[in-house]
Amino acid sequence: MSPATPLPPIARPASTYVIALGSNRRGRHGAPEREIAAALAMLGDVVARSPTVASAPLGPSNRRYANAVALIETSEDPAALLVRLKQIERRFGRRAGRRWGSRVIDLDIILWSGGAWTSPGLVVPHAAYRTRGFVLAPLAGLVPAWRDPRTGRTIRQLAQLVDRRRPRD
Ligand code: ATP
Ligand code: CA
Ligand code: CA
Repeated sequence: MSPATPLPPIARPASTYVIALGSNRRGRHGAPEREIAAALAMLGDVVARSPTVASAPLGPSNRRYANAVALIETSEDPAALLVRLKQIERRFGRRAGRRWGSRVIDLDIILWSGGAWTSPGLVVPHAAYRTRGFVLAPLAGLVPAWRDPRTGRTIRQLAQLVDRRRPRD
């Protein structure tokens, strides 16, 4: 009898996600840039990342933000991925509530290669990313031709629109 042919590993289709990372507070890893690097290491399966950029504060907090975007590959659906992102946020000391306050790490799902997703507490693409230069500018360096499923615009186009709206001195 011939030996059994080994079965291939169960092929779960992997998705690509764009994750936005933000930090405006020191944590146990150090300054905001270090927290972002540590969160990326914990996320795993990072296929590409932008540099970390400093940006002006959003909302009532007066701290400066460090922001980055990353592409990750995973077989999790968006809801499962959000659960994992929230676990990581908690491990970094993030507490619920206080939207836009100071936080060691904020992890948002911006885009999903599967397109649009809506479930309780989750909307993908992220509802506000189309007007956020601190997401679009670094993202345009990674995936300029990725199309936003709601507007049909590319990331490059969205980034240019935000850039044009920004007041200049
Ligand atoms: P913003 O969403 O405007 O960037 P925020 O990141 O400060 O604000 P949070 O307090 O971190 O807001 O999140 C509020 C809730 O948003 C989360 O509990 C989560 O359930 C929900 N949410 C909806 N869509 C998304 C998404 N695409 N990525 C992450 N969280 C999301
Ligand atoms: Ca956010
Ligand atoms: Ca968030």
